[in-house]
Amino acid sequence: MNLTLIKKNKNTLNSETITLNEPDEIFIPLKQGDCEECTPCVKTGDRVKIGDIVGKPVSEYGVPVHSGVSGLVTEITESGDKCAYVRIKSDGLQYVSDSVVTPVIGSKQSLIEAVRASGLCGQSGAGLPTHMKLSTDKKIDTLIVNCCECEPYITSDHREIIEKSDDIKTGAGLVTKCLDIPHCIFALPKGEREAADILRAAALEINGGEVRTVPAGYPNGSDKVLAYLCTKRRIKASQSPDDQGLLILNVSTVGFIGRYSKDGMPLVKRRVTVDGSAVRTPCNVYAVIGTPVSQLLEFADCRLEAVWHILSGGPMMGKEIDGISSPVTKTMNAITASTEPIRDKKYIEANRVTNCFRCGRCVEACPVGLIPNLLETAFDKGNVQKLRKLHNEVCLECGACSYVCPAKRELTDKIARSKQLTSEPNDEKEGGI
Ligand code: SF4
Ligand code: SF4
Repeated sequence: MNLTLIKKNKNTLNSETITLNEPDEIFIPLKQGDCEECTPCVKTGDRVKIGDIVGKPVSEYGVPVHSGVSGLVTEITESGDKCAYVRIKSDGLQYVSDSVVTPVIGSKQSLIEAVRASGLCGQSGAGLPTHMKLSTDKKIDTLIVNCCECEPYITSDHREIIEKSDDIKTGAGLVTKCLDIPHCIFALPKGEREAADILRAAALEINGGEVRTVPAGYPNGSDKVLAYLCTKRRIKASQSPDDQGLLILNVSTVGFIGRYSKDGMPLVKRRVTVDGSAVRTPCNVYAVIGTPVSQLLEFADCRLEAVWHILSGGPMMGKEIDGISSPVTKTMNAITASTEPIRDKKYIEANRVTNCFRCGRCVEACPVGLIPNLLETAFDKGNVQKLRKLHNEVCLECGACSYVCPAKRELTDKIARSKQLTSEPNDEKEGGI
């Protein structure tokens, strides 16, 4: 089952990606995604070219940050409440750095080093540094290329499949070869026939390659749910996919690895879906990382005067941006500009928790067939037997039940906490529900 209740609003599925004009100025955060903040390695007055490093990582959990324009460094802000930024005024000449060269990749170590040097972090979701995922010392038997993009509005991964399938094939081929992974699953939602045909052709050229379709809808693109849907392996709360022999990479991440292996251009641009109820012309654009969001909103003819939220990402997991002068980042797969409150604090406050009225939406939403409302009651009563009978241990902690609950009940949190009760010995407490 999945969330049929959530309107998908995939308005831009057929919108070919348009490359935006180079911005006059970019403003690059030195912390991007879940990577550690870099230290600046340029100073005000320096001249840089496209692909030059402007921020260097300080630990293995970081990746370098590169300039996406050629021009003059005009400002470097201090790290404080907010992360540090490097501001670069473009000279409009688009000179490319001599450091941009095709990497030599032929082993696991050389792949890890190249991916790190490219500045890559996950192109969707939290933005974990990709080289850290590749560096696992656990035996991986399956690469899952996540093509699900289950959030409403966002189609940037879908356009990657339609427009850049050759890069995806190269990227998936490199990862499986260098990490000696015998099986590669391209996982995508049912009903996406064009994308499925393209990926089937790519899978034919990868050892152990295949396409698997999963039910369309949120949260089927989250790692834990996707791992279960594709392989029936359960990733526990304390585990990561490699504990179950899985490497899960987003399809745009894989496509970027393929591109980088061919041209050596680091991550200085990305595709962004611009949509939402305030946007008159929804679109997919390529934008230089560091471009002000205002330029993308202007291009998409956004009704700024009607905006309530502007989110980096989609309405389910997206984060409110600081203002329209905020920059495009490495992990910004979408900008969702909405005229209605989606997750506004005041709105949530006004709609605070009420009693369960047994509407069944949480049951319908659960991807593994649990009964979240009964699990919550069992947890509230400390009824360990009942929790076990309802198989609380199967919960993937995906958050779908809490999201759909009209009574705003904290189902996921309680079910996750209930696992502690059932993992304890001598815990056969009695109680009825
Ligand atoms: S969705 Fe909420 S109100 Fe509906 S049955 Fe589940 S817990 Fe109860
Ligand atoms: S019970 Fe667990 S697996 Fe099911 S929807 Fe809720 S959080 Fe997800």
